[in-house]
Amino acid sequence: MSEPTAGKNRGKVFLIGAGPGDPDLLTLKAVKALAQCDVLLVDELVNPAVLQHARAGARIIPVGKRGGCKSTPQAFIERMMLRFARAGAIVGRVKGGDPFVFGRGGEEMLTLRRAGVALDIIPGITAGCAVPSALQIPVTHRDFSRGVTFVTGHSKNDAPLNYAALANSDTTLVIYMGVANLGPITAGFLAAGMHATTPACIIQNGTRDHQRHLVSTLGSIVAETDTAKIGSPAIVVIGEVVSLANEECLPLFATEAAA
Ligand code: SAH
Repeated sequence: MSEPTAGKNRGKVFLIGAGPGDPDLLTLKAVKALAQCDVLLVDELVNPAVLQHARAGARIIPVGKRGGCKSTPQAFIERMMLRFARAGAIVGRVKGGDPFVFGRGGEEMLTLRRAGVALDIIPGITAGCAVPSALQIPVTHRDFSRGVTFVTGHSKNDAPLNYAALANSDTTLVIYMGVANLGPITAGFLAAGMHATTPACIIQNGTRDHQRHLVSTLGSIVAETDTAKIGSPAIVVIGEVVSLANEECLPLFATEAAA
């Protein structure tokens, strides 16, 4: 495929949130932006079905970090974005969920800003809300929690979470990237005084047709997750709202198979 045509002032980057997986959970704004892009740099968690909205002939470059391929280093992705935009292309940087929730979108925005490249942020539905919803778990409910806290189980420098603060926050805890460290994470919350009977669940590939989930408790979730062989990508929800889970619920519109 040819390099994008150079053009003065035309180059720009859309940081596009592709939502949690179900392709019907894209925003209209994302659909419109996808249709404009010359080049799409697509993260691994993005359901390829969303690319049906790309314009014919758009160059699609997977920049996933898993799945057998060698990871594309962040710096390299950022250089590609800049190179295409400076050459006059409309670039779509397509990310799972919302680009600014654990998606490194903030870093990419700063790189583009510093380089003086025009950019637009297109928010997406973040997994932390949509994935619990797939089991009819509201992340807040006045009877159960005063709010919701999104945390990552996998930090840049591997520093432990502030378990005491989180355990006493009176909020639902929604953990992204928590599978690999689920043992130490649950141990941290129990040591901080949370009850082993606190409802907890894990949902893998939420909103997708291969979604798997397990509703459990803080004390049992690690062993049960191991037994059920539930792995990444998964969201872990800890808090009383998990007691509202409806494990029988099926999506009203199963869109993925049809996509
Ligand atoms: N920007 C994304 C999050 C990127 S971090 C967002 O806003 O959703 C990647 C993590 O998100 C995964 O490790 C997992 O914890 C979570 N995640 C993303 N999609 C998911 C899905 N469909 N089901 C379960 N977890 C998901």
